[in-house]
Amino acid sequence: MIVILLGAPGSGKGTQGVPLSEKLGLAHVASGDMFREHLSQGTELGKLAKSYMEKGELVPDDVTIRMIEQRLERPDAAGGVILDGFPRTLPQAEALEEALAAQGRRVDVAPFVQVSTDELLRRLGGRWMCRVCGRSYHVVSNPPKHDHVCDVDGGELYQREDDSIDVARKRLQVYFEQTQPLVDYYRDRGVLVDVNGEQSIEQVSDDLVAAIRRRGPESSAAA
Ligand code: AMP
Repeated sequence: MIVILLGAPGSGKGTQGVPLSEKLGLAHVASGDMFREHLSQGTELGKLAKSYMEKGELVPDDVTIRMIEQRLERPDAAGGVILDGFPRTLPQAEALEEALAAQGRRVDVAPFVQVSTDELLRRLGGRWMCRVCGRSYHVVSNPPKHDHVCDVDGGELYQREDDSIDVARKRLQVYFEQTQPLVDYYRDRGVLVDVNGEQSIEQVSDDLVAAIRRRGPESSAAA
């Protein structure tokens, strides 16, 4: 099963991706996490990606597509994946479609986590993440019990450099220009499912699981 998790930066997609993949038994492939890993390991790809990430811009399609195609060839992806943060442009979506078709596969479902622009800006500006587990907190909607400390493992909380308000605005602008068209792309292919992202984390999670189970390959075979 191939799931594309769609949603703007700040839609809660990042909070949902890992638990969702665990619930559904699918590999979690997050392009942003992969770039951050390259960055922290100082690889060539990391050095290239850094300048784009710092400005809130997209890393060029060719290197991004190659990175994801290689990831999809790893054995754990054979049983199904949740793609989180990829594709983000039409050429990326088309390249993915081709790569999957070559393996006799296709995108099964693309849940779109919808959140208003005002709410996205509010969320992005106050976001803090745990260095240890990556859990995210928000100063208003989901504050930690103690400032700068993760409730779960006591890890230090930090703000991602691209969460400053100016960069957040840029990321949103890039999202609306380049990524939002994918909503229609997947709607036209009959795989898009709208999910209300302005609900509790648990409710969004339940809606995502229900949407994916309803539209997955087994259910379409039975229909
Ligand atoms: P994310 O964690 O998904 O918000 O991604 C962080 C940053 O990594 C983005 O702002 C981009 O600079 C880069 N990035 C992640 N995924 C992609 C992608 N599919 N295409 C281009 N750049 C990406």
